[in-house]
Order: sequence, then structure tokens, then C-alpha cells
Amino acid sequence: MTSSTYCKACNKPTTHKEMLVRKPSSYDTDPSLMGKIKLFAHTFINGGHYYDMDRYITCQDCGKRTLDNKGKAFE
Ligand SMILES: [Zn+2]
Repeated sequence: MTSSTYCKACNKPTTHKEMLVRKPSSYDTDPSLMGKIKLFAHTFINGGHYYDMDRYITCQDCGKRTLDNKGKAFE
């Protein structure tokens, strides 16, 4: 997915590539069975999608990666 977004490094609107990175969840580091169940429930409740996502956009001109978490597409 690409979008035209203003790049501070290029000082102009450029084509950006969008990338989603899941934020580390506390459930992931819980080795207990309860932790696994929680992780499963957590995933299930959210329709199989993690909502704790960081949205990065990468400028296709200079390669600068910017954290762009505005918008509520995952709620
Ligand atoms: Zn740029």
C-alpha cells in the first residue's frame, strides 16, 4: 500500500510505503499456560488481529521511516 505523504527529509510530498509493526505485548513474554490462554483470548477478541500496531511509513525517495500512528483504522 502506498500513499502520498509529506516527507520532512525531502521537504515535499512523496510516495510512502506503509508498514505495520505489532507492538510487543506483555502476553508474549508470559511463558505460563495462563499467559498463552490470555494471548489466545486477546487475539480472538480482536477478531484475530492485534490492535496494538505501530504504523510506519517509509519515504520511497529518501528511505526515511516515520512513525505515523494517527488514524484509528484498527479500532
Ligand atoms: Zn523523503
